[in-house]
Amino acid sequence: MYDDNYLAHRLATHLAGNADKVFATRPGLPDITYGELFTGAERLAARLIDAGVKPGDRVAVQVEKTIEAVQLYVGTVLAGGVFLPLNTAYTASEVEYFLSDATPAVVVCDPAREVEIAPLAGAARVFTLDGTGQGTLTADLSEAPDFKPVARGADDLAAILYTSGTTGRSKGAMLSHRNLASNSETLRDYWRFTADDVLIHALPIFHTHGLFVATNVALLAGASTVFLPKFDANAILDAMPTSTALMGVPTFYTRLLDDPRLSLETVSNMRLFISGSAPLLVDTHEKWEERTGHRILERYGMTETNMNTSNPYEGERRAGTVGFPLPGVELRIVDDGREVGTGEIGMIEVRGPNVFQGYWQMPEKTAEELRPDGWFITGDLGMRDADGYVSIVGRGKDLIISGGFNVYPKEIESLIDDIPGVLESAVIGVPHPDFGEGVVAVIVKEDESLTLEDITAETGSKLAKFKQPKHYEFVAELPRNTMGKVQKKALRETYAGLFA
Ligand code: AMP
Repeated sequence: MYDDNYLAHRLATHLAGNADKVFATRPGLPDITYGELFTGAERLAARLIDAGVKPGDRVAVQVEKTIEAVQLYVGTVLAGGVFLPLNTAYTASEVEYFLSDATPAVVVCDPAREVEIAPLAGAARVFTLDGTGQGTLTADLSEAPDFKPVARGADDLAAILYTSGTTGRSKGAMLSHRNLASNSETLRDYWRFTADDVLIHALPIFHTHGLFVATNVALLAGASTVFLPKFDANAILDAMPTSTALMGVPTFYTRLLDDPRLSLETVSNMRLFISGSAPLLVDTHEKWEERTGHRILERYGMTETNMNTSNPYEGERRAGTVGFPLPGVELRIVDDGREVGTGEIGMIEVRGPNVFQGYWQMPEKTAEELRPDGWFITGDLGMRDADGYVSIVGRGKDLIISGGFNVYPKEIESLIDDIPGVLESAVIGVPHPDFGEGVVAVIVKEDESLTLEDITAETGSKLAKFKQPKHYEFVAELPRNTMGKVQKKALRETYAGLFA
């Protein structure tokens, strides 16, 4: 199938002769077969081409998680376009930047937000798609019986995913057909996914984890999914007795542990629990094993590279580590220009067919992080133990990960600093029992009459919910070192127990 389109050909591996196989069961909604998934994707591809999408054009999408949204992803690939998903939590002012940076040919948004988003779309054609799969995108779709995918090779772009920038603006990571296909094939084999699997799919599909790891691996294996619109402990526990695998962020596991229904019996059909996108606490790993008899398999990746390392399928899954480099992925840990020894900390660099093509229209940023010989400087600090297991020991970029989502302090600090009456601010992440880390803003006033409401009025309207600080502290001054740098480590220590 789809021989001329590198990624689509691979995503459709299991379509031929298997069109009736169920791809997705959905609580309260009809099942979707592989045949239906791809027929819908072809129709959407035809619609996109009709709307003017040409090879390499971006299709920007900010919609709820539905099968139609998955079909839009596959349809964009079939149409030769570049899929550009956006977090549904992004506000209009955040979306405005992405659209002006990526200049898409088509924008798809929720009908409830069309009035806000359409004026930001420039020359793009705007369609709508709601949480039930309805909207102008899917209305009156005609059959596309003779559909032929647009030819695309391994090195052509399939997607751009924006990663927040530590300084300045978000960067669009350009991912090629080969980047996505190679990583999904590797993961499918490494984690032993087959057509017998039923994957509980509860992750968002605007992020690499849910879109590429979960969706692509399921498709490439010919597996079925239990397709849930969002995390829902009840729905996941309902699905477990007839499912085989779950992919989640650490928050999934801590929340499921809080549910008394989680037991040896509920998981008796499950073969694999995978965690990633943020560090899984050793405590969670151990509690999960006590309750379920399963050791969670932790892996490590990022938007720019898809997955880099994984604990083994067979062999010891070592808590607090992210395992070994995946087959085909090279990993080195570097400090001061040389590779560090066992147990020493350095910057993690990776190279392989999974590593992205650079940042969209940011050649300088690309040059800073992607070496000419293909090594990508991840920004994560790590070490390797004597057995070769890699651990992530810190985040060079001061990244906060709250509920599995990245929050970059700089962005929030800049917004708060701009509020009249604020002198300066420092944003940190401290341990949070539910979210992994909770965002805390430490603020120095310039004008004593400034109130908490003045701050939250601004952060509440300008920032996506997951980025909004969960706590604000007013202080007389920020701790600084002799070089004048704010001591974030000291702040994190001071407020470490805030959410305990
Ligand atoms: P994203 O680009 O949103 O996928 O975020 C990638 C970042 O998440 C990485 O650079 C790491 O800092 C962090 N990350 C992903 N997986 C893990 C993990 N298993 N343990 C610790 N940090 C992780």
